[in-house]
Amino acid sequence: SKEAAHNGYRVYNEVMSESFRAYLTLGGGLRTAIEECQFELYYQPKIRLSDEFTVGAEALLRWRHPELGMISPDRFIPIAEESGLILPLGEWVIREACRQLKAWQMQGLEQVSVSVNLSSRQFMHPDLVEMVRSALDETGVDPKYLELELTESMLMADANETVEKLHAFRKMGLNLSIDDFGTGYSSLAYLKKFPIQTLKIDRSFVQDLGVDAIVKATIAMANSLNLKVIAEGVENRQQIDALVGYECQEVQGFLFAKPMASDEFSAYMQQSNAP
Ligand code: C2E
Ligand code: CA
Ligand code: CA
Ligand code: CA
Repeated sequence: SKEAAHNGYRVYNEVMSESFRAYLTLGGGLRTAIEECQFELYYQPKIRLSDEFTVGAEALLRWRHPELGMISPDRFIPIAEESGLILPLGEWVIREACRQLKAWQMQGLEQVSVSVNLSSRQFMHPDLVEMVRSALDETGVDPKYLELELTESMLMADANETVEKLHAFRKMGLNLSIDDFGTGYSSLAYLKKFPIQTLKIDRSFVQDLGVDAIVKATIAMANSLNLKVIAEGVENRQQIDALVGYECQEVQGFLFAKPMASDEFSAYMQQSNAP
C-alpha cells in the first residue's frame, strides 16, 4: 500500500540519516583525532600452546574520543578507509608499534614480536614498503620482530603486484600472516604462491570447535605447507583441547587475555613467562 511504501521510505531515511550522522561525528572528528593523537594501540597476547608462554602480541587500534570515549576500530576504520585518512593513521600505527617494540626490548622483553593489521588501501599504496623500512630504521627494531597481517581479499586483488610487494617485505626480514583465514574465497592452494609464514584462523570457525572438521583439515594442510597456525577468538578450554589435538601452534583469545594497554601487556608477559 501507499502507507507501507511511505513507512518503508521513512525507515530507510532514518537509517540513512543515522549512518550519515555517525559519519559526520566520527568522520569529521577523525582528521582532528589524527592531528591531536587521540589514538592508542592495545596489545592482545599471542599464546604458544606447547607451554602457554606469551610469545607476541597483535596491535589493535583504539580511538580515545574526548566526548564519546573509547571507539572500536570496526566503527572508524571503514570511515578512515573511505576518506583516505587510513594512510596517515596506518602509518602512525606502524611507527607506534615499532617504537613500542623498541621500548619493550630495552626493558628486557627481548623475544616479543608484534603484528599490525593493514587495510587494503594502505597495502595498495606504492610507498608502503619504504614507509615500513623507514619506521624500522628510525627505531632500530630488528624486522624479524614485526609482522604484517593481511587479508585474503588483499591478495586476490592484483596477484602479480602483491607477490612482488610481499617478497620485498620478506627480503627486509619481516614476517607475513593471513588474517581471518576462511572468511574469504581463497584456498590454501592459492595462498601457496605468496611468501607467507602464518595463517590466522578466523574466530567464527574457532567458536564451534570440537565438531569442526574444517579447522582440523585447515591446520593439517597449513602444517604440511610449513605455515604456523594461530587460532583467533579462543574463549574456553574445550577449544584449547581440540586445537592441541589438531596441532595448532598458537592462540589468541579472551580465555587468556583481552587486548590491553602497553604497560599492562609487558606486566602480563613477564608474569606469564616467569620460570
Ligand atoms: P581482527 O584483526 O580480526 O582482530 C581481532 C579482533 O577480535 C579484535 O577486535 C579483538 O579484540 C577481538 N577478539 C580477540 N579475542 C577475542 C575473543 O576471544 N572473543 C571475541 N569475541 N573477540 C575477540 P578489535 O580490537 O575490536 O578489532 C576489530 C578489527 O578492527 C580487527 O579485527 C581489524 O580488522 C581492525 N583493526 C584493528 N586495529 C587495526 C589497525 O591498526 N589497522 C587496521 N587496518 N585495522 C585494524
Ligand atoms: Ca588481525
Ligand atoms: Ca582476525
Ligand atoms: Ca576480523
